[in-house]
Amino acid sequence: MNTIAVEIVTPERVVYRGDARIVVARGMEGDLGVLPNHIPTVTPLKIAPVLVKKHEGADDIIAVSGGMMEVRKDKITILAESAELADEIDVNRATAAKERAERRLAESGRDNVDFKRAQSSLQRAMNRLNIVGK
Ligand code: ATP
Repeated sequence: MNTIAVEIVTPERVVYRGDARIVVARGMEGDLGVLPNHIPTVTPLKIAPVLVKKHEGADDIIAVSGGMMEVRKDKITILAESAELADEIDVNRATAAKERAERRLAESGRDNVDFKRAQSSLQRAMNRLNIVGK
């Protein structure tokens, strides 16, 4: 069976380990579908879902908050600042983070460093909420 190993790690833990038929991730320059035997690459990722399509059973979806994806012939490693499996996502926490970020965006000027921080925080929260369908 032609599969590629997938590992998603953060500084804190191994979030995901599995074998995929194809992995779909959002790179800075667009969506990437990575198959086994892909040419080796290193790509920065956006704050977005990573979809692991497996041979058997349901696909897995992981909220990845940016980071880097390293592709080797037989293994994909994603190193992210934070990442959660869909069923680990705390909806109340993400909703609170989204509301906090929206408040900060409304309060701070565009050139302010807090504005950029709030934009990233909003993206992380929206990504989490999208994945759980909220
Ligand atoms: P918050 O403001 O709620 O902390 P954040 O986007 O700033 O959200 P991160 O810095 O991305 O949080 O992550 C910090 C840690 O908390 C990581 O381990 C991450 O997996 C976890 N985490 C953050 N938000 C959630 C959530 N809604 N559900 C589950 N885990 C979360």
